[in-house]
Amino acid sequence: MDLEEISAEMKNSFNGGKTESISWRKSQLQAIINLVVENEEEILHALHTDLGKSPAEAYKDEVALVENAARVAIKCLPKWMAPTGVSLPLVAYKGSASVVAEPLGVVLIFSTWNFPFNLALEPMVGAIAAGNAVVLKPSEMASAISDLLADLIPKYLDNSTVRVVQGGAEESTKLLELKWDKIFFTGSARIGRIIMTAAAKHLTPVTLELGGKCPLIVDRMHANKDLLVTSRRIAFGKWGLSNGQACLAPDYILVQEDFATTLIDYLKKTIKKFYGEDPSKTTDLSRIVNTHHFMRLTKYLQDPSIANTIAYGGSHDEKRLYVQPTILLNPPLTSDLMNEEIFGPLLPVITLKRIEDSIDFINSRSKPLATYLFTNNKALGKRLVNETSSGSLVVNDTGVQFAIDGLPFGGVGESGFGKYHGKYSFDTFSHQKAVLYRGLFPEVSFRYPPWNAFKFSMLHAALRYDYLAAILVYLGLKK
Ligand code: NAD
Repeated sequence: MDLEEISAEMKNSFNGGKTESISWRKSQLQAIINLVVENEEEILHALHTDLGKSPAEAYKDEVALVENAARVAIKCLPKWMAPTGVSLPLVAYKGSASVVAEPLGVVLIFSTWNFPFNLALEPMVGAIAAGNAVVLKPSEMASAISDLLADLIPKYLDNSTVRVVQGGAEESTKLLELKWDKIFFTGSARIGRIIMTAAAKHLTPVTLELGGKCPLIVDRMHANKDLLVTSRRIAFGKWGLSNGQACLAPDYILVQEDFATTLIDYLKKTIKKFYGEDPSKTTDLSRIVNTHHFMRLTKYLQDPSIANTIAYGGSHDEKRLYVQPTILLNPPLTSDLMNEEIFGPLLPVITLKRIEDSIDFINSRSKPLATYLFTNNKALGKRLVNETSSGSLVVNDTGVQFAIDGLPFGGVGESGFGKYHGKYSFDTFSHQKAVLYRGLFPEVSFRYPPWNAFKFSMLHAALRYDYLAAILVYLGLKK
């Protein structure tokens, strides 16, 4: 079946009202849970094939989150779908108003390769919960997961309303020529621009989940236990999430000059504790997705001005697509490493005279998807909340905001726009329709022409103050 036929079939099913009912939505969400639970082993295996992800990492970051998102959606659907009442001003008496969430239609979801299972199915949960038909285009770069989704989705979900289209740039370009009711894209800013340009032709709304450089600030700490927890949580967010190939991974650290060596020592000890003396031997560290990205990362290290700043690590092995967790101290701020999204296991540490200078440092660059701060100083946390902008801000942890479905997940500025997870997913894939019912009485004539001074005073009183003021004007008790 060609893409136009798929799109036409999806539109027909949607227009036939099939996806509207709560029972269809619940049945498809339950089908996603069944797909996850009954194929857990195959999913974990495919994630290992694509990225060398360990089963524990793959389970917590991908499988469990999809299952949880579908369970939350099933539980909350009646509440999410219920119209929200709106209180009316007196001028609208007598009437009632509500906001009704309606499905958008047929939505196109593009996912990427670094969390290829989660980033395909978690948006799909939102799209289905909101009552849409869905076409999913998984990333060709995580081909084992792409193949598995193409095999399992038709077996578990309603084929007339949910489809998988596999392929890369060519298929994506063809998909973008068709008219969709919404495009949800996860990936790079470069392709994000292509998506937005193509969507503009059809005035299709888009959500862009992009990336960028996520800063992590570490305030000076003295207690051994604080340093230990801080270094573990940094390592968890950097090397424990797909070995740095995560949009939320800390891209670089900002730290006060005279604290940098202490922090780096703790980080080195933590890496050894997590991955052993020789991390190339562990099965707990994901591999680089492909040769292209391996070359991109090792090219940074070949630049002498960068190589000279390696404080730990730096080794790599092309055959096994292995790049060691690597810490760099003060690489040049003008280098590519400090201006492009690293998306891998290299972690620059940049020193500042005062930790407060980190605010200007962050504000002088594009708005990040996430900003992290480790501190015992609540005032510094507050300053960061008030004086910087990012998709999310996390104090004393990394990456975990993704797993909290009460929090919106999404970027701002260069890191994208739109948000999802939990109720935010439902809203992202819905149109919030304003519905107003009015009685035919009471009827006031001052809203209609022909205008005169009296009507104007009535309008003035009603709109500037309220309806009661207009009654006072009417009774001659107010001008
Ligand atoms: P990418 O932008 O190359 O690919 C994403 C999707 O776009 C894939 O499905 C791909 O097939 C498709 N695509 C490729 N060429 C296309 C074209 N010419 N036209 C239309 N679609 C095309 O993704 P990438 O660069 O490999 O992914 C890494 C980026 O994704 C990083 O910047 C990272 O920060 C970001 N990311 C963001 C999130 C988030 O949730 N915000 C999550 C993961 C990754």
